[in-house]
Amino acid sequence: MNIHEYQANELLQKFGVATPLGKVASTPDEAEAIAREIGDVAGPTSGGQLLQRKGAVVDKNAGGRTWATQPLDASGCPPGAKRVNLVVKAQIHAGGRGKGTFANGFKGGVHVVKSAKEAREVASKMLGQTLVTHQTGPAGRVVNKVLVAESAQIAREIYFAVLLDRATAAPLIVASTEGGVDIETVAAKSPEKIIRERIDPLAGLQPFQTRKLAKQLDIEPAQSKAAAKLFDGLYRTFVACDSSMVEVNPLVVTKNGDVLALDAKLNFDDNALYRHREIAAMRDIAEEDPREVEASKHGLNYIGLDGNIACLVNGAGLAMATMDIIKFYGGAPANFLDVGGDATEEQVTEAFKILIGDKNVNAILVNIFGGIMRCDVIAQGVINAAKTVHLSVPLVVRLEGTNVDAGKKLIAESGLAVITADDLGDAAQKAVKAASSKTQNPIPKQ
Ligand code: GDP
Ligand code: MN
Repeated sequence: MNIHEYQANELLQKFGVATPLGKVASTPDEAEAIAREIGDVAGPTSGGQLLQRKGAVVDKNAGGRTWATQPLDASGCPPGAKRVNLVVKAQIHAGGRGKGTFANGFKGGVHVVKSAKEAREVASKMLGQTLVTHQTGPAGRVVNKVLVAESAQIAREIYFAVLLDRATAAPLIVASTEGGVDIETVAAKSPEKIIRERIDPLAGLQPFQTRKLAKQLDIEPAQSKAAAKLFDGLYRTFVACDSSMVEVNPLVVTKNGDVLALDAKLNFDDNALYRHREIAAMRDIAEEDPREVEASKHGLNYIGLDGNIACLVNGAGLAMATMDIIKFYGGAPANFLDVGGDATEEQVTEAFKILIGDKNVNAILVNIFGGIMRCDVIAQGVINAAKTVHLSVPLVVRLEGTNVDAGKKLIAESGLAVITADDLGDAAQKAVKAASSKTQNPIPKQ
């Protein structure tokens, strides 16, 4: 599971990680209000309000007068007000926002603004709009929230991530002095600039390792303590939250010498979410594939893909082999679906409904090798689903194994227009043929 940047910031702060001061907004009004609250910025419409940030020095010369009695400068700021630039950032579960473009033509999902009015304008151009970045694919993602935060005066941008290294089965810190840019490009063009530090999962991140990392990342001695606290906080977040990755790009050193996590992306292991209620509550299903959201409600192992042949298979290995053989015969799978060995008739029904409901699907291939799973259970699930949702695409079924005769009998007597197949190769070829001819020869309404 992924979470938004603003949620990641809230979580990281609990582990002592310094992040920019900011709040999330769902409307341009909220964005403007937050901008006024956190910055000493003032639009021309703000006359009459005292605009100093809490804790900032109040202009003694004002002598109890409000700012409004003073002339405002061109940007609507009272003279003497300490200016804080702000940043408005589109909240989507994808990176590359800074270089992204909105479908309405507005450029960039990250904007530094100088006034609350400008924060409002930028927010109104982002909210409800689709942002396309190199990570979203051409369809892009709709922006429902923006983060309004104090803008950092960036001196240096660093890359820092904690992830699980499968080769050593241990946490690994990956870092680079070349932050703020696509890390894959750095890895490809200048691999020597990628720093790797393996962490012993039992000992945890050791002080000598944080010092070593700070040195390799050219952190000044004056900032090494702050950097160590940040690295430590990021590592502790990774472990305590059962995270699969904590990625900060960029981690910045500011002109004032602060060290901040400026853009944090957190992924979590879904299988551990049961023990992190507060993280599970951060889930934003608007960001997920609707087919996968539906599948997860029914405990199905489903991954949506871009092809047009839907697959219903039992066992992950057979599901992979089915996808491969579809590709081999020139087709493209619409999904990976492993109904498992102990799926109930209800689960099979729900799984089949998801396949039928997918607009891209031109044919369905049911491929079952009944070991623990019984063929008659699958057959009944398929029949149930086809009864509730009109089956508008060809259905290829290959059943083998436990209770195969009972399963075949159920399907034969169901009245469903089924294309039967004898083995995996036969089934895949029939599915590919059916999917490509579907448009010319649609199945008549039952
Ligand atoms: P991403 O494009 O989705 O990775 O979003 P980031 O939050 O990483 O922002 C992209 C780039 O915008 C960063 O690498 C910075 O150069 C810049 N940026 C982000 N936040 C700020 C900020 O608070 N102040 C300034 N001056 N630049 C920022
Ligand atoms: Mn980033």
